[in-house]
Amino acid sequence: MNKLNIDFEKVDGLVPAIIQDADTNKVLMLGYMNQEAIDITLETKKVTFFSRTKNRLWTKGETSGNFLTVVSLTVDCDNDTILIKAKPVGPVCHTGDDTCFAEENKSNTFFIDELRAIIKDRKNNPTDHSYTASLFAKGINKVAQKVGEEAVEIVIEAKDDNKELFMGEAADLLYHYLVLLEAKGYELDEVMEVLIDRHQKK
Ligand SMILES: [Zn+2]
Repeated sequence: MNKLNIDFEKVDGLVPAIIQDADTNKVLMLGYMNQEAIDITLETKKVTFFSRTKNRLWTKGETSGNFLTVVSLTVDCDNDTILIKAKPVGPVCHTGDDTCFAEENKSNTFFIDELRAIIKDRKNNPTDHSYTASLFAKGINKVAQKVGEEAVEIVIEAKDDNKELFMGEAADLLYHYLVLLEAKGYELDEVMEVLIDRHQKK
């Protein structure tokens, strides 16, 4: 059964599969899959290719342990290319590089989207032990006041030379800033729009 509507006849039994990091969005590698490889990938949640050099199914990481854990699998508009978003266990390339295109795959900025989702959830589904929910409960004035306090604290740490304390205040400010945006009902994307707009006017 071909659940994904791939026209395997058109592609001689093999479709290219682009593997993208589900968190950083970096392209990690490209491989080929036949129907069986797709089935095993979906069943085991470990990306499995049909290796043309080995002439057999090949689960990425089967010898190195550096598996690619599947997050999602989609087919393109022509039903002849697969996009797999995955979380790599270790370096993806056999050379030891993070990706097969010799790129670094280290970025934590994706977490800001996760954090925003958590903050939104605390607003919509408050619990007693959530600090974020308690901020929303106190209202917009309190949230805005906290942003002001954190801004003052980062100013103080900026004048000092302690990285750990500065990072702590930088994190506090960013977190409370995101809570304030959510309390006002605005999205970070809208702030980005303003910045992009300003940048384009230059
Ligand atoms: Zn490689």
